Amino acid sequence: MRSGRNVTINPVGPANAVQAPQIKQVLSLRTGKVLEARRFIARHRHEDLVRTRSHVLEAIYAGKPRLVCAVCQVPVYLVASPIKAFFFRHRTEDGSCPAVTRSFETEEDIRARQYAGVQESDAHRRLKRLLLRSMQADPAFTELAEEQTWRRADGIAGLRRPDVSAAFGDLRLAFEAQLSTTFLSVVVGRRAFYRSQGGLLVWVLASFDPDNRRMTEDDIVFPNNSNILVIDDETTAASEANGRFMAKCWHRRPDGVGPAATWACELVGFDQLTLDLEGQRAFLVDVEGLEAARRAQLEADRRAAVEAVHARLRDEFLAYWTQPFDPAMTYIEHGEIWSGFDARFAALGLTLPEYYHGDQQLDRRIKVILTAKTGQPVGWGYKRLPEVAHHLHDKHPELLLLFGHLLRLYGNDQALKAQDKTGGWGRKAVRLRQEISQGSIRYVTDASWSDLLIFLFPETTALLKPERKERVA
Ligand SMILES: [Zn+2]
Repeated sequence: MRSGRNVTINPVGPANAVQAPQIKQVLSLRTGKVLEARRFIARHRHEDLVRTRSHVLEAIYAGKPRLVCAVCQVPVYLVASPIKAFFFRHRTEDGSCPAVTRSFETEEDIRARQYAGVQESDAHRRLKRLLLRSMQADPAFTELAEEQTWRRADGIAGLRRPDVSAAFGDLRLAFEAQLSTTFLSVVVGRRAFYRSQGGLLVWVLASFDPDNRRMTEDDIVFPNNSNILVIDDETTAASEANGRFMAKCWHRRPDGVGPAATWACELVGFDQLTLDLEGQRAFLVDVEGLEAARRAQLEADRRAAVEAVHARLRDEFLAYWTQPFDPAMTYIEHGEIWSGFDARFAALGLTLPEYYHGDQQLDRRIKVILTAKTGQPVGWGYKRLPEVAHHLHDKHPELLLLFGHLLRLYGNDQALKAQDKTGGWGRKAVRLRQEISQGSIRYVTDASWSDLLIFLFPETTALLKPERKERVA
């Protein structure tokens, strides 16, 4: 029965929260964090919140609640108001919490619901008949039964009596027609039961209008990968004509780029559906999977674009920094180039010295890194690595240990040894190692310029991060 329009929320738009919820904060038992109820709700897309509310209730039934009231610690679940605004409700309420979330239904509410139930029973019987006829036409379906008590895997009769049950190859299927009186607690309870029995519960509707969805429909569509099956006269005729169980599958289009969702409906064979026992889903199009892949791709593209910008800046800066002295260039020209670089680094939160080669500490560090990286002395006018090592030892001992680590990092530590023909550096290095093992901090580098250096040479992050310093010491 459809009386009036149902409030239809754009599934890919933000979920609505009620304005002034009784439960204002909930505690996540997984993270230990207190969450603002309204913010928790609004940061989900409507479709995702519908899935989440299913999971939250399922966790309560499984005895492992995920969210509790921040005030009284009683498990809470998500409830939708008639206009599909969400709020949290206590699982049980004994008056000890100031937040009151359970109210008794008025008689009028109950009567309205019972009336809807009576109205629906004809439509329900009709839908079951169409389902049976559709599967009777298809030899792939056996053991067809209507309202038969489900035998559990261990042979014990279960409590569930699906509208229609069938075997499809090795798989046992339970079909349920969704009624407006089928509430989330029922949906969730059944899903857990059939999963535990290795069977698959498939919800079917007599009709579906994506722009006029009841909350009870949202509760089966979105957890079913935003797909839903419709069985009507047309599909039943198609099943009988083809000897194959056909259904209309409505699904949200996963490629919807705009702010509003778009939907598609296709007449398909049941054998074309992906059947997911663990998730208790039967779907044609993997909306969640395709969207997750698309998000991952966008994120990878975004990272690659950022990395390309960084790499260009890095290369241009180091090329400029290492270029030979050009007597034709004036200070003003250098100044212009430098301020161009300064602006680009500043945009990344990085600081440069005031002018070109304007900080000796930075220059020396870059020389040490480039020397270790290339295996050739850079910027000192030396020919061999041991000369650089001796120089650092005598003039800049605070860079010596870093130089050693860098040589290992870049795989040039053997080059230093090989070039040390007289063994002079090797003998000095033995003494140095002793000094260091006795706790000398003379050779330890401070964190000067490390942010900039890590940007220019990302591979040195572990060596140059300030936390790392203490361990080197
Ligand atoms: Zn409470």
